Amino acid sequence: MLGLGIAKGLSVTLKHFVETYIEDLRYFPRRYSEEAMEFRQSVKGRGLFTVQYPEQELPVPESFRYIPFLVYDEDGESGEKKIRCTACGICTKVCPPQCIWIVRAKDEKGKPVSQPAEFYIDIDICMNCGFCAEFCPFDSIVMDHNWKMADYERLESHIFDLHTLLKPASYYQQIRPVQYAERQAGKKKERKGKEV
Ligand code: SF4
Ligand code: SF4
Repeated sequence: MLGLGIAKGLSVTLKHFVETYIEDLRYFPRRYSEEAMEFRQSVKGRGLFTVQYPEQELPVPESFRYIPFLVYDEDGESGEKKIRCTACGICTKVCPPQCIWIVRAKDEKGKPVSQPAEFYIDIDICMNCGFCAEFCPFDSIVMDHNWKMADYERLESHIFDLHTLLKPASYYQQIRPVQYAERQAGKKKERKGKEV
């Protein structure tokens, strides 16, 4: 029938509109409590739910991905930073917009070693696809959650160098606990397989 599709579409909009107020009343006066936010943002949540940013801010889910960072492990005794990256260059090859540059470190004889001397990511070109993190064989590059990177200029602050990119494994564990645990379990299995 003519116009039936439009009517159906509008009824969906109307449903969301009404449900928004019903849910607001249901959670009144704690509409922004942790419990309310968790439910209302989930797939079971009904109506539309927004917050008054920047006064209020929604937590991002674990799978959220924004500009990658490089992981380092800390030696328990000496506290020395052990950079996981081996400068293999796989991430640079799979990066669709080619925004990663790596310079391999050299030993005193000028022979290349498995470590980056320099590592840059142009964060204005990065499209947050996560390919680098997916393909890295050493779990050394991980997608971050920090999305507040707006600035007034780009060359000074938006080309991240090795120093800016490095973050400890404890931070990785904090923002991606499930992925971190899975990967650690995978590594343990791999080690056991080698020992057998
Ligand atoms: S981050 Fe991973 S893929 Fe990229 S160079 Fe380092 S080890 Fe290789
Ligand atoms: S997230 Fe995607 S675009 Fe950004 S550096 Fe990694 S591969 Fe490149």
